[in-house]
Amino acid sequence: MIFIISIGQIKILDHLKKELKDRFNSRVEIEGSMEKPDYAFNPARKQHLAPAILEKISKIKLDGIKLGVADVDLYDRGLNFVFGEASPLTRTALISLTRLRPEYYGLAENEALFKERAAKEAVHELGHVFGLPHCSDPECVMHFSNSLWDTDKKNSFFCSLCKKKLKKLRFGR
Ligand code: ZN
Ligand code: ZN
Repeated sequence: MIFIISIGQIKILDHLKKELKDRFNSRVEIEGSMEKPDYAFNPARKQHLAPAILEKISKIKLDGIKLGVADVDLYDRGLNFVFGEASPLTRTALISLTRLRPEYYGLAENEALFKERAAKEAVHELGHVFGLPHCSDPECVMHFSNSLWDTDKKNSFFCSLCKKKLKKLRFGR
């Protein structure tokens, strides 16, 4: 079971639910919401510390994998920003929508593109939760995204190799 948790007000959760259901062939529920993560805010950077939010999500008592969806800019120590993070140990993932909108870069709004990017990031981070490493195939959803250019180049599906690995990790065969 995968639980989607909105952090603050998030609009595209139904879309993510459908995509995750398809990709992981698993039940997906939108399960409650968390307050805006002011505790993780760094005023000097005007960004939120991703691991602090991830830890908070991991404390929520739900029997399954948890994906938090936030709309604040995330960073981690030593990194300018992160699109998302995952912890296989606590079976928790987090993505940020902030840098996925074309408007963030001064470009015209594009809802379809935005939703597609969000699905890719969500599938990618949940792939890590299941134990998948990064993939060298630039079109595979598990390819590392250093920039949105990488995100746009890959699709939201696992390559055949990652698909096999995922099956083995989840079901032991
Ligand atoms: Zn990754
Ligand atoms: Zn792959």
